[in-house]
Amino acid sequence: MDLNFTEQERQFQHDVRQFLAEHLTPDIVEDTARNSSVFVEKDLALHWQAILVEKGWAVPQWPVAHGGTDWTPAQKYIFSRECYLAGAPMLIPLGLLMLAPVIMAFGSEEQKAEYLPKILSGEHYWCQGYSEPGAGSDLASLKLKAEADGDDYIVNGSKLWTTHAHLADHIFCLVRTSNSERPQQGISFLLVDMDSPGVTVEPILTMAGDHEVNQVFFDDVRVPQKNRIGEENKGWSYAKYLLEFERGGGFSAPRIQHELDRLRNMVEEAIKTVDNFDESGEIERRIARIDIDLKALEITELRILSAVSGGGNPGPESSILKLNTVRLEQAINELAVDVMGYRGLSMNPVAGGSPYREDFTASVVPRYLNNRAASIFGGSQEVQRNIIAKMVLGL
Ligand SMILES: Cc1cc2nc3c(=O)[nH]c(=O)nc-3n(C[C@H](O)[C@H](O)[C@H](O)COP(=O)(O)OP(=O)(O)OC[C@H]3O[C@@H](n4cnc5c(N)ncnc54)[C@H](O)[C@@H]3O)c2cc1C
Repeated sequence: MDLNFTEQERQFQHDVRQFLAEHLTPDIVEDTARNSSVFVEKDLALHWQAILVEKGWAVPQWPVAHGGTDWTPAQKYIFSRECYLAGAPMLIPLGLLMLAPVIMAFGSEEQKAEYLPKILSGEHYWCQGYSEPGAGSDLASLKLKAEADGDDYIVNGSKLWTTHAHLADHIFCLVRTSNSERPQQGISFLLVDMDSPGVTVEPILTMAGDHEVNQVFFDDVRVPQKNRIGEENKGWSYAKYLLEFERGGGFSAPRIQHELDRLRNMVEEAIKTVDNFDESGEIERRIARIDIDLKALEITELRILSAVSGGGNPGPESSILKLNTVRLEQAINELAVDVMGYRGLSMNPVAGGSPYREDFTASVVPRYLNNRAASIFGGSQEVQRNIIAKMVLGL
């Protein structure tokens, strides 16, 4: 793979930089830097999404026919890298990068026409209803029941850990439509309007002090069967397809690079301002280790992107990306907390400190606490290792 940019690619990079200089305002960058949660604030993400939609650059990964770009893999990479390095927010992937590929691959023409434009415009804000009490790693044991009743299903049960369910107007759900075969064969993929009578959302507050996740209850919820994606009882394969995009559908390396750059700045600042700051070189060694692993992640992402650019899906290799993205992010979070030392205590929301200070260091401790969950959500690290062993290495 040739990693040197061509003349045209350098010109494209210049165009992206110019666009960002004009549209990525300092308040967007500051609000993004202050974020300590898995996703930035909904309003911030939708604001940036609207700016990108107007330019035609919101979903480079989508086919042109649905509003994507005809960019080469290198252009997609350059765009993503420039956005993150400039401090742009990440768009919320739930609809754009997780549900949309499933609708494009398995949805009917009516479903594509109905949902894709609303996902792109931000009119629909989606959440993911996969996990349940007792069904996380062992997802196939899920029980949320959908019984056919005329042209509808009647849905009963609950979903757990549903990120942003309290903000979403729609939820894509895995439901149990049959108990008669292997657990994987009785699952269907259903799109549900959160305003449907019988849907209630209960908040779950995390140790980071955030309200991000919820439990969603379904009590005799009537859902039209036309909201089912693909065939009844075949939802397991659509669900796995979506997980590949959740785990490896974008570029994490440039985002982590941005976090590492900020950490470097913090260390430089601490060396200048903090008495007896660690002078053993241990912190620099840990940064160098992260930097080396980050380069390996970047190359792996580019390799998978090249494979996917023909319109395919990321495949089980996406588990390699999820595993290493989280490993590096958490290493940066831990190192940042170590650099803050006792000064970080005033930023601990659990200890009553305020996370709301002007500079981004305010988000260090809340971010550390929030991101502990990254090794669980989207499939735990152990589960990713199992997938890599079985599906990638063939062990
Ligand atoms: C912050 C957060 C946000 C989330 N957001 C969503 C969301 O929006 N939508 C959604 O559907 N779900 C969401 N989840 C749920 C998430 O996908 C599950 O928590 C995850 O899949 C683990 O399932 P579990 O919690 O049932 O734990 P369990 O499956 O009970 O796992 C417990 C422990 O056992 C280990 N383990 C389990 N099975 C194996 C195995 N076979 N081999 C080795 N180790 C194993 C796991 O790695 C883990 O350490 C979220 C979770 C969190 C924490």
